[in-house]
Amino acid sequence: MTINFDARKMAAELYDGGFRPMFIGGQWVASVTGEVSESHDPATGAVLATVPLSSAADVDLAVAAARRAFDGPWSRFSPYERQALLLRIADLFEANWERLCVSDTLNMGMPITRTLANKRRVVGMLRYYAGMATALHGEVIENSIPGEIVTFTRKEPIGVVGAIIPWNAPTAASIWKIAPALATGCTVVLKPSEDAPLTPLLIAKLMQDAGLPDGVVNIVTGKGAVAGARLAEHPDVDKIVFTGSTATGQAIARAGIANLKRVSLELGGKSPVIVCRDADIDRAVPIAAMSVFAHSGQICIAGSRLFVAREIHDEFVAKLADFARGLRLGHGIEPDTDLGPLISPRQAKVVEGFIASGQSEGAELITGGSRLLGAPYDKGNFITPTIFGGVKDDMRIAREEIFGPVISAMPFDTIDEVVDRANASPYGLAAGVFTQNLGLAHKLTRRIKAGSVWVNMYHAIDPAVPFGGMKMSGYGREGGAEHLYEYLETKAIWIQTD
Ligand code: NAD
Repeated sequence: MTINFDARKMAAELYDGGFRPMFIGGQWVASVTGEVSESHDPATGAVLATVPLSSAADVDLAVAAARRAFDGPWSRFSPYERQALLLRIADLFEANWERLCVSDTLNMGMPITRTLANKRRVVGMLRYYAGMATALHGEVIENSIPGEIVTFTRKEPIGVVGAIIPWNAPTAASIWKIAPALATGCTVVLKPSEDAPLTPLLIAKLMQDAGLPDGVVNIVTGKGAVAGARLAEHPDVDKIVFTGSTATGQAIARAGIANLKRVSLELGGKSPVIVCRDADIDRAVPIAAMSVFAHSGQICIAGSRLFVAREIHDEFVAKLADFARGLRLGHGIEPDTDLGPLISPRQAKVVEGFIASGQSEGAELITGGSRLLGAPYDKGNFITPTIFGGVKDDMRIAREEIFGPVISAMPFDTIDEVVDRANASPYGLAAGVFTQNLGLAHKLTRRIKAGSVWVNMYHAIDPAVPFGGMKMSGYGREGGAEHLYEYLETKAIWIQTD
């Protein structure tokens, strides 16, 4: 992608280390305790800004504002008016797209070429759900009860939605939760990750500029264990939409039991990529590599279990390693950076731990595996793209989500065998298949247990196509029409007319 604006200049102008308030009830506010936390650039460790460190009381204020808006003016917005608002927000996002992307890149490290490329997922999503706002409908149902009785259903907004998002794609994750809420007439309290809270605050400003009524969207910055936990258990929150790790998703589902909150969970993965012996190797190598190395492996759908047909295994892995060695690590704001930093020193330690476990369990380190320590990398969290060979299915690196730039390559002999091995994971988020045999492609897509299966491609996500997990990768889908129904309740209405 060509970048035709000065991303470095925009980055220098965007954050100056100062305080950024959060957004509750249409007001820009500090936390009631006055506490703040620093937000960093993971490539340099520099403090970009400070944000409020919310207490449970701040979350309560945000939920109360969302409830007032839901019961008040927002409930009188017609579908057409909600649609018009979403379209105005989409226009402002389009006009400010570069600023949003620079902010995301600075705060969470993803290379600018990748954040910019997500426009269709974000602006497209706003417009897709704008279109759906006026297409919602119940249905008239013929009942069998004697007499003149009309029965029909109405689709009604579920109420106040708590949205909790991870740090790895703040703009997309925010919009994938806010857009369907606005289309259906819900209100939102969104808690971004403490590791990347800044862009959601920019998003709130754009929404306010577009005419968002007070309290319809609220952004509360703070820690998961405090602000997130309060939102998840709050008795006046009707639904939680969550994206993050499986362990946190389980805690959130448990916390919602008390008032039987509706819960949607987009969780972790350990996705298989299967390269069949008839695959177009030169085409598959960069796609398989970037299925993990994009965003330094910090993507839920990372295709980190690479199964390659034994006949082509050695050639494929050698080409993959060459490709990995050619990738450039650097600050995400540089247009030629392929891999940015890991989000935090803590995450870099976790990934180093996985690499050490791969070595101690007997896997062969083919390339990468090291932390970059000299300037200009010394203050960031950079780990080189890493490929292990000789990996066994029961090694930790083949079983657990790493969230770092690590691929485990393994040969396979038969299709039945590779299907069993691919499915022998508690996760079921995504999978990739490389083959030129159409029949085999259909067979594999049918038999693999995953919410998305890509053939001869990877990582495509579209507003109209449902995305989500099976098994411990969660439940619920984002994108597509069915996503909207997760924000709606169905009411049955009976009228005796004789
Ligand atoms: P995380 O689970 O640590 O945190 C996610 C969010 O939950 C953050 O906002 C955090 O503050 C909050 N949180 C933490 N503890 C909480 C609690 N007890 N109650 C309520 N909220 C709490 O995840 P992360 O490290 O930010 O992100 C990485 C994980 O997210 C990976 O597992 C990745 O696979 C997953 N992810 C999934 C998808 C998907 O669509 N399936 C997309 C992106 C990331």
